[in-house]
Amino acid sequence: MGSLDQQPAGSATRMEAGSAMSHHVVIVGAGFAGLSLAQSLGSTPLRVTVIDRRSYHLFQPLLYQVATAVLSPGEIAQPIRRILGRHKNITVLLGEVDHINPERKEVYINGEALTYDTLVLATGATHGFGHSEWARFAPGLKTLEDARRIRAQILMAFEKAEMERDPSERERLMTFAIIGGGPTEVEMAGAIAELARQALARDFHYIDPTKARILLIEAAPRILGPFPEDLSAYAEQELKRLGVTLLTGKPVEDVNERGVGVGGEFIPCSTVVWAAEVAASPAGQWLQVGSDRAGRVAVAPGLSVPGLDSVYVLGDLALALGEDGKPLPGLAQVAHQQGRYLGKALPARILRNETPPPFRFHNRGNLAVVGRNSAVVHWDSFKLQGFIAWLVWGIAHVYLLVGFHNRFLVTMRWLWTYLTFQRGSRLITEDVIRTQATDAERGGPEAAGAPDPSQTSNLRKTADQPT
Ligand SMILES: Cc1cc2nc3c(=O)[nH]c(=O)nc-3n(C[C@H](O)[C@H](O)[C@H](O)COP(=O)(O)OP(=O)(O)OC[C@H]3O[C@@H](n4cnc5c(N)ncnc54)[C@H](O)[C@@H]3O)c2cc1C
Repeated sequence: MGSLDQQPAGSATRMEAGSAMSHHVVIVGAGFAGLSLAQSLGSTPLRVTVIDRRSYHLFQPLLYQVATAVLSPGEIAQPIRRILGRHKNITVLLGEVDHINPERKEVYINGEALTYDTLVLATGATHGFGHSEWARFAPGLKTLEDARRIRAQILMAFEKAEMERDPSERERLMTFAIIGGGPTEVEMAGAIAELARQALARDFHYIDPTKARILLIEAAPRILGPFPEDLSAYAEQELKRLGVTLLTGKPVEDVNERGVGVGGEFIPCSTVVWAAEVAASPAGQWLQVGSDRAGRVAVAPGLSVPGLDSVYVLGDLALALGEDGKPLPGLAQVAHQQGRYLGKALPARILRNETPPPFRFHNRGNLAVVGRNSAVVHWDSFKLQGFIAWLVWGIAHVYLLVGFHNRFLVTMRWLWTYLTFQRGSRLITEDVIRTQATDAERGGPEAAGAPDPSQTSNLRKTADQPT
């Protein structure tokens, strides 16, 4: 095995053993947790290496807007190298960590070893399935690739419906099911409804996109479970106003290439999105420490891993307890605060030999947008709904985006969408179509939702009246 150990370019001399710069902090993952930690360590004399398998930091809370053609992928992603480039003590490596040896204090990137003095794992969560057999028909929303695939699937469903003569198949193509009633699913359902009823409304000749059926399926009795009941009732009412059908209190029983089974009924649909379930990355297995059912690694109050020397776990990967003794939720604000905390705690421990206080999470409130002019905000006893909540949601998300460039682009894009009701990112790119075609080859034509060639297409049936 090779070794990646080297001094960063531009460091004038070899570092003296025992000096602060000889202490090597390796951070795996530049999501909300890893990036905020790296930024905090940027002004310290520690030597820091940030490893990520992607070249960019992704702002996941706005992924659904890429999936529904509001934003382009580049507007919610920012190159990690650009964000951290000004810090001379930070090296950025693009690569996938696949193994760790805590005894030798080594991480392995594509088989190459890198030694650390302190290791911080912030590799987040992936889309997980209790039913792996459903995964193929119900894409999750976790990466830019997922968002682009879902966007192509939604837009292609309308394109295929335009060519479809069979009314029941056309109805199936124009039926979309979102599984789960959390903020992301509510946002996704509202955004698809607005796409169909506003942006696409006049763009087709044979079909009427405003007749698209959008289902939001939630096993619990109400959507937005962590929000107070009146806010979730408001969100339900707003979704209904947008034309979303709510199926609450009904667990999903089946998902296949033709649709979803729910509450004893089978509903034919072309697109099923399952954003709800996440599973932590396999870092717990690398460390050979116990993890919970979701794969999260239990951490001490200072976010270190009990029993391991100088190993810390942050963000979605960490099972950290709040002051009430309950696990902290997998939220960007938790990950961000943990990164900032460790950014102060590590220098205190390593450089000044101090014992930092334990991590404390400060809840900055929960937000969910339903659609145009409509959102809910909950913070302690403070509740807000409607237009002002929508403005708060927008301002908070623009503020939290990394980089002035992206903040400016997203603000402009939202303004344009708000004024014109249009979507700026409706391209179906060839690579995504090719991926769908490959899926179809693997699973048969229905697996990728391809039209049945035995049906006569509307293109050939010129006498048809547009619907
Ligand atoms: C669709 C969606 C919407 C969301 N909306 C909200 C919201 O509105 N509000 C909110 O607070 N939270 C939201 N969240 C949750 C929030 O995004 C996460 O809690 C947060 O991203 C967790 O941060 P993290 O740093 O732990 O992990 P991540 O941000 O997921 O980052 C993990 C990083 O590790 C890298 N990585 C993973 N494995 C490896 C490996 N083996 N080697 C190298 N690199 C690796 C990944 O490439 C990634 O860059 C949403 C999540 C999703 C998916």
